[in-house]
Amino acid sequence: MPLSEFALIQRFFTQQTVKNSSTRLGIGDDCALLTIPDGYELAITTDTMVENVHFFKDADPEQLGHKLLAVNLSDLASMGAKPLSVTLALTVPSVNEAWLSAFARGFLTLAERHHVDLIGGDTTAGTLTLTVQALGLVPRGLALTRSAAQVGDFIYLSGNIGDAGVGLKILQGYHCTQPDNALKQFNQPEPACETGQNLCGVANACIDISDGLTSDLGHILQQSQVGACLYWEELPLSTTVLTYINDTGDWLLPLVAGDDYQLCFTVSPEKTALVPANCQKIGIIEAELGLRLNKSGIIQSLEVKGYEHFS
Ligand code: ADP
Ligand code: MG
Repeated sequence: MPLSEFALIQRFFTQQTVKNSSTRLGIGDDCALLTIPDGYELAITTDTMVENVHFFKDADPEQLGHKLLAVNLSDLASMGAKPLSVTLALTVPSVNEAWLSAFARGFLTLAERHHVDLIGGDTTAGTLTLTVQALGLVPRGLALTRSAAQVGDFIYLSGNIGDAGVGLKILQGYHCTQPDNALKQFNQPEPACETGQNLCGVANACIDISDGLTSDLGHILQQSQVGACLYWEELPLSTTVLTYINDTGDWLLPLVAGDDYQLCFTVSPEKTALVPANCQKIGIIEAELGLRLNKSGIIQSLEVKGYEHFS
């Protein structure tokens, strides 16, 4: 006999011990209860992953659990918020215990690592659809937004880009001699939680790269009403990405591929000494609207475009 909804929740989603001092009441009642400390604001975000849209049918459930939480923690990171807790709305076609167990392992392992409590959710039957709401704390008034970039700010990335894009190409048939890192970046990205929190009071604008650098930086440019120039030679690219570009000639990949979940942020010149050492300066915010690329000294316009669900 398949597990009842209640037994399923008990079995797979309540093993976690409370990790976070803000959690006053977790799973089991009609609502969870959180305590918000003085001097902080609550940052709230939600992201959904749908089978055949965000992941392939038959995707590894442990990796899915990791990625679902990672993309939500990444949204908190991009506002400079420290993750507290999450809710999980799970729609599954049937109760497959092996699948649920692996999914919960991927999800809860990452949660433990970031001291995030799973405090509630909902479980229903239907097309496989995974939704998380994530809650975080940010010091009052210090949240990083998309609209705060200033002309003259330098643009930074929190780490390499393009690896997840190559990972997707590998899944679609590109032959790579050392595929592990690219596949890991695509399947199990690490949210830049610590970097995000360290950017509070340092960065002006910030966003996480889910849809691609040009697209996501484009949101900062639009909402801040500024333009930018990027320096091709400064982009932090792994040997895997450089080899891919060499093999295919597709040098646009690191600019337009999504799923890397690095942070892209802007910093005024007087604060650049405070930028964490893992970050790389890649360009500058300019008054002239639009996005430009300086590649080998030649400046070209870049279209600000990424993945669009309704096009
Ligand atoms: P209700 O009928 O009030 O919506 P449910 O029976 O859906 O309550 O859920 C019972 C408890 O289990 C609630 O505390 C809810 O937050 C939690 N819960 C349900 N599904 C999940 C899930 N997938 N992950 C974590 N907690 C869940
Ligand atoms: Mg319910």
